[in-house]
Amino acid sequence: MQRPWINRPTTVAASAAACALLAALGIGCFQPQRVPPPGAIPYQPDASGEDLFSPPPTAPDFSVAPPQTVVPTFAWTPPVPAHAWKYIVLHHTASETGSVDSIHETHLKRTDSEGNNWRGIGYHFVIGNGNGMPDGAIEPTFRWDDQSSGAHAGVGEYNRDGIGVCLVGNFEETEPTPAQIEAVKRLVGALKSEYGLGSAQVLRHGELKATACPGRLFPHEEVAASPPTLSAGPWRIRGW
Ligand SMILES: [Zn+2]
Repeated sequence: MQRPWINRPTTVAASAAACALLAALGIGCFQPQRVPPPGAIPYQPDASGEDLFSPPPTAPDFSVAPPQTVVPTFAWTPPVPAHAWKYIVLHHTASETGSVDSIHETHLKRTDSEGNNWRGIGYHFVIGNGNGMPDGAIEPTFRWDDQSSGAHAGVGEYNRDGIGVCLVGNFEETEPTPAQIEAVKRLVGALKSEYGLGSAQVLRHGELKATACPGRLFPHEEVAASPPTLSAGPWRIRGW
């Protein structure tokens, strides 16, 4: 006895007919397809040719800080009207350590040719070397804030009209630190720009009187030739 429900040819034919009917109705019919193993799929570049993995060339570079629109200004504008400065006179402390405070204490004990006590530190700026003051720190003194005469040159005209800049260190024995050289060039360049000074007005102390100051290892020509440019940035250092 033949049982129609196990007649395979009849069942397959009926299934195909049912799919054709469903397809005609737009419904579709599940028909599994063989999927090739991954290794058999050839690499096919994106049809658009677009590189989907590299960052686009116009992407911002986040590895560097965005440019700042800081207008360069003179960083040491004194709180009183500026003196008509004519010179910059460069010194060293002839000591391994030092700071504005330590020099101030030493100079308070000095007296001038008439026996009067100094008012304290004789320079207008001090640049630290990491021993007593941070390396490369530029610190103005009360004489800069007052725009008053210095007590550093040993010659009246240069005390009155010369900006006294002292670097901590003994440059007869060691060179200034790289940070000190960068700092003094930055300061000299800013002072030249602000007060219209030329390289010939940047003097070694030893040009004014018989002294080795600021030492044979001080790169004076390089410092005196500093371009007269203002620095963008808060270089007025006090209370580090
Ligand atoms: Zn000196």
